[in-house]
Amino acid sequence: MSGARYGAGGTEQGGARYGGYPGGATRAGGESEGPGFETLAIHAGQDPDPVTGAVVPAVSVATTFAQEAVGRHAGYDYSRSGNPTRGALEACVASLEGAAGAAAFASGLAAEDAVLHLLEPGDHLIVPDDAYGGTYRLVSQVWGRLGIAHTSVGLSDLAAVAAAWRPETRMVWAETPTNPRLGIVDIAALAELVHARGARLVVDNTFATPWLQRPLALGADVVVHSATKYLGGHSDVVGGIVASNDAEVLERIAFVQNSVGAVPGPWDCYLTLRGIKTLAVRVERQCATAATVVAALEGHPGVETVLWPGLTGHPGHEVAARQMRGFGGMVSFVVAGGEEAALAVAAGTRLWTLAESLGAVESLIEHPHRMTHASVAGSPLEVPSGLLRLSVGLETPDDLVSDLLGALERATG
Ligand SMILES: *Cc1c(COP(=O)(O)O)cnc(C)c1O
Repeated sequence: MSGARYGAGGTEQGGARYGGYPGGATRAGGESEGPGFETLAIHAGQDPDPVTGAVVPAVSVATTFAQEAVGRHAGYDYSRSGNPTRGALEACVASLEGAAGAAAFASGLAAEDAVLHLLEPGDHLIVPDDAYGGTYRLVSQVWGRLGIAHTSVGLSDLAAVAAAWRPETRMVWAETPTNPRLGIVDIAALAELVHARGARLVVDNTFATPWLQRPLALGADVVVHSATKYLGGHSDVVGGIVASNDAEVLERIAFVQNSVGAVPGPWDCYLTLRGIKTLAVRVERQCATAATVVAALEGHPGVETVLWPGLTGHPGHEVAARQMRGFGGMVSFVVAGGEEAALAVAAGTRLWTLAESLGAVESLIEHPHRMTHASVAGSPLEVPSGLLRLSVGLETPDDLVSDLLGALERATG
């Protein structure tokens, strides 16, 4: 029954064959036996329907479930508290993250909000100095008003993390790679510091995805995702998910999921599950195309700096090479000529769509200073106005390169 509550690998929905190997996907990191990542992505939590044989989990639209006798049912009583399609998604993501359980939410921020509910008034948390803008807004303007204090620190500097520590620090929130500068945080080293001081480490794994990086195996206590990005992967569903191996965390997150009720609908869960099936092949290709795009930008007279952890000159390169399977499909670069030139490049591409969000099959370009990071202008999180962020999609690499270089030449040439 606990499976239905927090989507442990092994729910009634069909953890039987693959959901029961929460550690199975660690084979990606070279550690354990059990099904590999791609197998789990397609099958975990998704055995053929025992009644009909359907190979895809049903989109269970029912809000309520018949009970044989009071309190006696097949694991579900009401769809806010638990839903079979949601349970399949939770079991699948839990297995991919090597987690004992996961809980799905209506958005990434709803998932983050549930994690922040682990804190009590008076607690303090440390957040990255280049956190996702919405995370910073949630921490500073929502939870800040409810008595949770925070400090923003560059998390690749462990001495700075130690210096920001207070007796009431209970949580460190990390993102790696960071947004939009693509900085890298050493998860294992940070986890050691955080645990020595009796706090919890949360890692937002949205940019890396579990295919590239497994924070729990590196020592993190909680993983959170905006499933809107790579997990969904097709720009057609908003969602979030929390995964952990800590029973106390899972218990509390499941309680908040049910009590606050920011749950995803079954169609959204289905779309996310469908996206996850191709996660590995998508991200693998996106990493390769990102490398091609980076090579074209590097040394281009219209480009001042390229930020991508795959570059040997990137300050986080060595750590990224150690803790990630690949360097990711996100690339940022500073345009020579500042804000005006950057805005012209962003408006001048045809194939790269000027839009917020990331991680989907369509390649996107955006101007963080004016778009995704507008809410942090004037704060320590403000980003340079000449910076552009790319989310590399799955179009033909040569088409992407020629479109981007054309826009650069028109804007800066
Ligand atoms: C998009 C995003 C979020 C927020 O997720 P939503 O699904 O938009 O609520 C959180 N963290 C990161 C890194 C993101 O990119």
